[in-house]
Amino acid sequence: MGNEMNATVTMREEINHGLLILRVTPDEPLAPFKAGQYTVLGLPGSAPRSDYADPEDPPADADKIIKRAYSIASSSLEGQYLEFYVALVRGGALTPRLFALVPDDRIWLGPKITGMFTLDDAPSENHLLFFATGTGLAPYLSMLRSAYRFDADRVTVACHAARVSWDLGYRTELEGMAARFPNFHYVPIIDEVERDPKWQGRTGYVNQLVEDGTIEALLGHGIDPGNTSVFLCGNPLMVDSMMELLRKRGFTKHTRKSPGSLFAEEYWKA
Ligand SMILES: Cc1cc2nc3c(=O)[nH]c(=O)nc-3n(C[C@H](O)[C@H](O)[C@H](O)COP(=O)(O)OP(=O)(O)OC[C@H]3O[C@@H](n4cnc5c(N)ncnc54)[C@H](O)[C@@H]3O)c2cc1C
Repeated sequence: MGNEMNATVTMREEINHGLLILRVTPDEPLAPFKAGQYTVLGLPGSAPRSDYADPEDPPADADKIIKRAYSIASSSLEGQYLEFYVALVRGGALTPRLFALVPDDRIWLGPKITGMFTLDDAPSENHLLFFATGTGLAPYLSMLRSAYRFDADRVTVACHAARVSWDLGYRTELEGMAARFPNFHYVPIIDEVERDPKWQGRTGYVNQLVEDGTIEALLGHGIDPGNTSVFLCGNPLMVDSMMELLRKRGFTKHTRKSPGSLFAEEYWKA
């Protein structure tokens, strides 16, 4: 496949100037995919940048397509469009251009949807702990929106860390799921409390939710790799520190060759 634009922006919703929900409809029928997987978005260097981004120096090559990986946030049952949850990296190459898009703009969508960060290798009876920072929530949204078994005996806990409460994208949708399904718990947590003094919920880092017994209380027992699968997604510092913490509790990272109960997707290198 070439580099010509092959998809159209059909919806954009700015949660705030640093967070964007983008829906993209491909020209060709959507390929089947598994919830949790990612694909690639691209725009030419000539595409305009958001006013909220830093100026680019030196300017990008106008004809070159800038491509980056993005987790799919929409349901794998949705056949028309893919939804993405994107954070603005102000000095970045692609995100300032994604933030400048409006409906009907054209975009490049990678031909492959791929990735191992899915529920495939987590035993279906296991409790599931989802930990996300920022837009690392996207793969869990896709999982929860794709015929998720909320009524199973297992407990699911989705922990979403953000700097401030107005960065907690999809909060209403997740609170709605938690209100409806007793075995599903949504735990938002913020760390820039001084900027958000009215916040009444959890503060700190997701590690604390493990260390202070919050997760155990929701599970009703200890965090056990024998009956619990843990997913980590987003900031590599969170992923690394959670891996270290959970290794001490007997968890090992899952690979196809060596199955474990710990699944990780890092959005960039620390
Ligand atoms: C498998 C995979 C899935 C991904 N899914 C998503 C997704 O669903 N949503 C999303 O927003 N991003 C996602 N990313 C990150 C994305 O691919 C880009 O790296 C990111 O959007 C920055 O692109 P850029 O061109 O604007 O910045 P670049 O010009 O590529 O600059 C990137 C630099 O900025 C830093 N950086 C990258 N991402 C962030 C961030 N979110 N916050 C702070 N600093 C950052 C890193 O230091 C990195 O070296 C994913 C990455 C991978 C590998």
